[in-house]
Order: sequence, then structure tokens, then C-alpha cells
Amino acid sequence: MYGKIKNDLQVTLKKLKEQGLYKTERIITSSQSSAISISTGETVFNFCSNNYLGLANHPDVVKAAQDVMNKWGFGLSSVRFICGTQQIHKELEEKVSEFLGTEDTILYCACFDANGGVFEPLLGPDSAIISDELNHASIIDGVRLCKAQRFRYKHSNMEELEQCLKDAHEATYRIIVTDGVFSMDGDMAKLPEIVALAEKYDSLVMVDDSHATGYIGKTGRGTAEHFGVLGKIDIITTTFGKAMGGGNGGCTSGRKEIIDMLRQRSRPYLFSNTLAPATVGATLKVIEMLSGSSELPAKTMANADRFRSKMEAAGFDIVKGGTAIVPVMIYDEPLAIKFADELLKEGVYVIGFCFPVVPRGKARIRVQLSAAHTFEQIDKTVNAFIKVGKNLNVI
Ligand SMILES: *Cc1c(COP(=O)(O)O)cnc(C)c1O
Repeated sequence: MYGKIKNDLQVTLKKLKEQGLYKTERIITSSQSSAISISTGETVFNFCSNNYLGLANHPDVVKAAQDVMNKWGFGLSSVRFICGTQQIHKELEEKVSEFLGTEDTILYCACFDANGGVFEPLLGPDSAIISDELNHASIIDGVRLCKAQRFRYKHSNMEELEQCLKDAHEATYRIIVTDGVFSMDGDMAKLPEIVALAEKYDSLVMVDDSHATGYIGKTGRGTAEHFGVLGKIDIITTTFGKAMGGGNGGCTSGRKEIIDMLRQRSRPYLFSNTLAPATVGATLKVIEMLSGSSELPAKTMANADRFRSKMEAAGFDIVKGGTAIVPVMIYDEPLAIKFADELLKEGVYVIGFCFPVVPRGKARIRVQLSAAHTFEQIDKTVNAFIKVGKNLNVI
């Protein structure tokens, strides 16, 4: 029975390889950090993780996970509403709400699930979702799972957004949905303008702050803090799998009635297992660390500024932006792949991003800075970029 699809899959996989689109995974033999060991035996600087605060292997975070596991066990073997809610789950929901300045929070096993389960319970065919064209795949999937009317505006184009809001004037509810930080360009959504348009056209606002929570904004509360619009975002979705320790888990946070309804109706919440206690404990620790001091987010941004300015001074084409995502534009696809391979030989682990992840002819190396990087690691990495850049005639 397997024969036909087996052959077809083999053909498709072969094509992917021929087109250079087949993804292989490098294997890490250490914990996640600013310097990692890989299976070839080398130790390399890691400049492509979402470990923005450097907490992925922080001893206090690891210990918090261990302590919680000792007391609360490994798993819950249940969804939340049957017998999967421990005191620590409620505590984390409260702490996240406090941290993000929202009324309530509901946990999911991933932000992918949060986005997958947020639209369908709230919006029917008479409502309108207005979405930035570069929003994350999980938002796109979440929108697909819901019967609301769909409107899409060009990336951060406020005139188009306004037109969408006008076009959607007959809808019962309107919601503008955007990533807070866009992962490929490292730019931020124009939240003040978006909030103003939402007020003008009676729309809700939802921000997915996965690439921001923990390090954007003075105390790491995300893009709403950065732009001074805390409390004006109706729905925030975010992940614990990036800056916030990098394990897994995510949440939807926002207006009380919205969160309450999600608890009743959101399918990835109702029909998927509870977040493991160890993850809950580690995330609680991360929030405690961030609540006590803004040193870590400040370090992340200082590192990003250092890398950005040194790379610009060296003549690289860097996409402007105020986040820890620094795209180094190479444009040519094979050249971007080659550049990343050469950097690995120089002890720098980064990835070349090509079509279809970014538009054709806009290949780049996406560098991500972390609070865990030292100035020495950053400067050596810039030097490696300069060496490879000269060899490959990029600068
Ligand atoms: C990473 C990311 C997600 C997915 O988060 P997980 O918790 O890993 O599922 C969702 N949205 C955005 C914008 C992201 O960057």
C-alpha cells in the first residue's frame, strides 16, 4: 500500500535537495548557549538562537525547573480542565498578567497553539481579521481555522491597514493582528499608529510578541512597553520558548472576558496536555529575575547595538531596526548559504535565510544577539564576517 506515496515522496524530496531547499539540522552536543559544541567536535559561537536573554542554560533557571519537578512531578497526564491544573499553573498565569500589564492569561504548550486557538472561539463569519502580510505562520494557521472574513495589508503599511478597516466597516467585530517584532527583518510593528487606527475604527488589537517578550522595552515587557501603549493591546500572544528561558510553552494574555472565553472554547487548550511543571517553574523564575532588574534586557540591546554599529562600519548592508535581530543582507541565495558555511569554519554558527522564508533575491544571514554574548565574542564574530565578506567580495 505504501508504494505510491513512497515513490512520490522520494521524488519530491530529491527535488528539494536539487533546489537547495532541503533542510538539514546541525547537531549540538552541549546545552544552548552563546558558545556551543557541535557534532563535528568544534566549539562555535552561536549567533542564531532566540536565546535573547541567555537564560536557556542559566543555573538559576535550571535549578528552578529541578526544584519544581521534585515537588510537583514530571507531568500531569491531563488537560487543564480535567485534572491538569496545579497551583503553579495559576501562579504563572497571574505572574504573566502582572508582567505584561494585562487582566488575565491562559497558558498553552506553545505560542503556535495560542495563535491556533485564539480566533475561532471569538470570531464568526460576521467578523473581520485584519492581518499584516508578514505575520507568523501560526497566526496564518489560526486565521484559517476560523470563519471570519480576512483582510491583509502590506507589511506595516498604515494606509493599507486603514483601507482594510474601512472595507471591514460592516463587520460585527474587527481585530487588527500583528507580530510585535517581525522575525526576518527584526523590525517592530508600528503600534502607536495601529492603536490609533483601532480607536478610530472601533477595532480590537492583537500583538504576537514572541520575538519581544523578555527583552524589548526597558523592563522586557515587550513592544507595548517600548511604544508606551501598555494596557492598550487587547490580546497579546507570546512564547516562553525564546527569551523567557527557551524551553517551551506560550500564552494568550489580555482582557478578562476574552481569556475566560478561551478557557471555555479554545481547542488547543481543551484538547492538548498541560504545560509540564518544570517548564512552569522555570518560567516563573525567569519572570522573577526580570521583575527584579532590567540588567538583562539592557545587556541584550547593548550587544545588538555593538554588533550592528561595527558591522555597518565594516560596510555590510544591515537592515535597520531596534531589536536583537540583525539581518545582514547578502541578496544572492547561494552566496548567503556559502557565507554561512564559511563563517562556521571561522567558528561562528549562523544560518543563511533564502526563499521561500524571505523574498527571492533578498537572502540574508540573520544574526541574533543575546545577553549571554561577551563583547569579545561579538568582536571576533564581526572580524570573521569581515574576513569572509572580503574573501567572497561582499564588502
Ligand atoms: C516563534 C514564534 C511563534 C511560535 O512559538 P512557539 O512557542 O515556539 O510555538 C509564534 N509566533 C511568533 C511571532 C514567533 O516568532
